[in-house]
Amino acid sequence: MTDLANAPLSSDRLEEVADHLEGWSVRDILAWACDQFAPRLTLATGFGTEGCVLIDAIGTNRLPVDLFTLDTGLLFPQTYALWRTLESRYDLTIRAVRPRLTVEQQAVQHGPALWTRDPDACCAIRKALPLRTELAKFDAWISAIRREQTPARARARVVEWDAKFDVVKINPLAAWTKDDVWTYIDTHDVPVNPLHEESYPSIGCMPCTSPVAPGENERAGRWRGRAKTECGLHDRLVLPLAQVAG
Ligand code: SF4
Repeated sequence: MTDLANAPLSSDRLEEVADHLEGWSVRDILAWACDQFAPRLTLATGFGTEGCVLIDAIGTNRLPVDLFTLDTGLLFPQTYALWRTLESRYDLTIRAVRPRLTVEQQAVQHGPALWTRDPDACCAIRKALPLRTELAKFDAWISAIRREQTPARARARVVEWDAKFDVVKINPLAAWTKDDVWTYIDTHDVPVNPLHEESYPSIGCMPCTSPVAPGENERAGRWRGRAKTECGLHDRLVLPLAQVAG
């Protein structure tokens, strides 16, 4: 790696480093992240195709990255099965991070099926708050977002300051296309969710995920019929570090 990549990572260098890392392979970006942040480095995965690519790269190269998933208690059975398959295939543990309230307790406190009435509140309880608590234990987290997925993700850098969760965020697949992801999956025979073959390109909680029609955006099946497009985990409270460092 170059001197720039190995230099101490201070706040005013983060954007410069992001420029430098642009175009690096996913393995090299992950290796750089390990050099900088392990063992206080984690990957949060929802077991999408992109997450499976990153788990393959981490598992195959035995990289020292903690892994967890936000288990909302409302995932598809196929997703729970994929979770176990990936752990077995790569001989690693993907920890479960769960919300303070079970689905049943949430129904008692906030009424049944909160996701139908206030999905933002439901995502806050079941995803954003547990993620915030978990990320407080780390210096950097790896996400599987890609720029072309949504307008909110279009400005994602390979590495950036996550002002929402007060950690460095690393997006090794930021520049990847959907074809890049599937080429990697096919080449490396990576296990993925079988629901992808049933018109579910993006898979979240069961109540908020529906199949998409040909030509629709790959995330069109998430919170269908609502303006909501994100769980609140990857919105643009992620700022270039210079903006928050003043
Ligand atoms: S995706 Fe739906 S069910 Fe899952 S946490 Fe968000 S609102 Fe709740």
